[in-house]
Amino acid sequence: MPQPCLTGGCLCGGVRFELTEPAQAAGYCHCTRCQRRTGTAASAQARIDGRTFRLLQGEELVKCWRHSDGGFEKCFCRDCGAHLFSRDPEDTEHMSIRMSAFDADPGVRPSWRAFVAYAASWEPIPDDGLERFDEAKPRT
Ligand SMILES: [Zn+2]
Ligand SMILES: [Zn+2]
Repeated sequence: MPQPCLTGGCLCGGVRFELTEPAQAAGYCHCTRCQRRTGTAASAQARIDGRTFRLLQGEELVKCWRHSDGGFEKCFCRDCGAHLFSRDPEDTEHMSIRMSAFDADPGVRPSWRAFVAYAASWEPIPDDGLERFDEAKPRT
C-alpha cells in the first residue's frame, strides 16, 4: 500500500480523506457558482487524479450536488456544510479538492485564475501575475 501523503476533512471532522499522491496543480475559480458555494470571491482548489483519492470515513455525510445545467458535482459535508471536493460524475478521475480541506500544506500553490470574466465586483482580482482565463482553464 502506498503511504498517504496528504490528509484532509470537513469542519466537524465527520468526513476524512487522504490522497496517495501529491496534488500536481492548483488554481482559483472565480465563477459565480463558486462564489455562491464558498461565500467568497474565489475558490482555491487543487486538481487531482481521482484515483489517488480515498474517503476514509463519513461517506454517508458526503452530499454531492450538481447544477441542472451540468458541470462538476460539488461535494460537501451534510452536517457542517464544509465544501470538500468536486468531480466529473461521468469521469471521477477528474476531480478537484478544496485547498481549505487539507489538514496541512498541500505543497502545491495556485498558479492560475479561471472564470475571471465572472469575478465578483466587490473584490478586485489581485495583480499577482497568475495566468488568467476568462472561462475554464482547459485540463491538460
Ligand atoms: Zn462535517
Ligand atoms: Zn467555479
